[in-house]
Amino acid sequence: MRIVVLTGGIGGARFLLGVRAYAREVGAEVTAVVNVGDDLYLHGLKVCPDLDSVMYTLGGGADPERGWGRAGESWTVKEELAGYGAEPTWFGLGDKDIATHLVRTTMVSAGYPLSAVTEALATRWQPGVRLLPATDDRLETHVVVSGPNEPASSADLDGGQRAIHFQEWWVRYRGNVPTHRFVFVGAETAKPAPGVAEAIAGADVVLVAPSNPVVSVAPVLAVPGLREAVVDGPAPVVGVSPVIGGAPVRGMADRCLEVLGVECSAAGVGGLYGARSAGGLLDGWLVAEEDEGTVVPEVTVRAVPLRMTDEAATAAMVRAAVELT
Ligand code: GDP
Ligand code: CA
Repeated sequence: MRIVVLTGGIGGARFLLGVRAYAREVGAEVTAVVNVGDDLYLHGLKVCPDLDSVMYTLGGGADPERGWGRAGESWTVKEELAGYGAEPTWFGLGDKDIATHLVRTTMVSAGYPLSAVTEALATRWQPGVRLLPATDDRLETHVVVSGPNEPASSADLDGGQRAIHFQEWWVRYRGNVPTHRFVFVGAETAKPAPGVAEAIAGADVVLVAPSNPVVSVAPVLAVPGLREAVVDGPAPVVGVSPVIGGAPVRGMADRCLEVLGVECSAAGVGGLYGARSAGGLLDGWLVAEEDEGTVVPEVTVRAVPLRMTDEAATAAMVRAAVELT
C-alpha cells in the first residue's frame, strides 16, 4: 500500500507520526508532500519551517513543548545578532537549527534543488517517510494587509495595502493587522517537485493532514498540476479536520479562515475543500466525535476521536481515514 500525505508543519508532523506507525503495522510506504509557502531567507539563510518541523519530529529531534525547532536548543547566535541590532529580530533561530539552515543554504547556493537538499538532510534524520517539498520553485505565502508600514519588509500595493511574508504576518504581528487576502507568490510558474506527481499517481490513498487549510494545504495545492494530479488521480482523497468543536486545536486556522470568510468549523473547512465529485478535493472527511453530524455535500463524513495525544491515538485516526475510502 502507498500513502501520500499533503501536509504543513507542526500539526502535519504529529499526524505523520501516526501515519508512520500505521504504515509500519500494515507494511505501507509513505510520501509526505510538504508545504514550502512558509519558506524564507533570514540572515542569508534559507529556512524551511514546515519541512524542518516534519523532519525534526519524525527524526526524534524536535522540541516537544515548543512544537517547532530542535530539542535542547541554545540561542547564542540569536543573542549575538540582537547585539548588532540585526533585523529581523522577531524570528528566532536556535543554534542547532542554524546548522540545518547552513547546510541547506550551501547546497541550494551550489545549485541543488530543494528536493535533493531535503533528501540529503533526511539521511541524518531517517524520518522513515519520504519527504518531498511540494515544489522546488519559489512559492511564498504573502499576506495583503493595511497598517503598520515598514517598507523594508514589504511590497507596496495600491490603496495603502501591502504584502508581507506570511511569517511576518504571523510571528511578528500574530495576525493582528487588517488583513485582506493570502497570495501564493510564484505559484503560477511553479512545478511539482520531482517525484510528487509520480507519488500521487501511484498512491492507494491521499490523506490531507489536519494542517491549516489556508496557509499549509492551500499553498501545496496551488502548485499547478499538483491539485489536478490529486483530483484526477486514481486514489481516494480523505481529509482530517484540524478544527474540533469550532476551534483549531492550536495555531491560527480560525484567523486565516476568518480572512476567507469561511466558518471555523469541521463543516466549514470540509466545505472549503469541497467534494471531489463536485470539482473539489475530498471523497472522505474525518471529523472529531464532538462534530458528529457534520455534513459536507457529496463527501463521506465520519466522526472519530481526533486529538493527536500520542502516536497510538494518531495511528487510530489514520486507520479510520484509510478505512473511510
Ligand atoms: P504549521 O504549519 O506548523 O502551522 O502546522 P500545520 O498547518 O501542519 O498544522 C496546524 C493545524 O494542526 C492547526 O490548525 C491545528 O488545529 C491542527 N492540530 C494540531 N493538533 C491537532 C490535534 O490533536 N488534532 C487535530 N485534529 N488537529 C490538530
Ligand atoms: Ca507552516
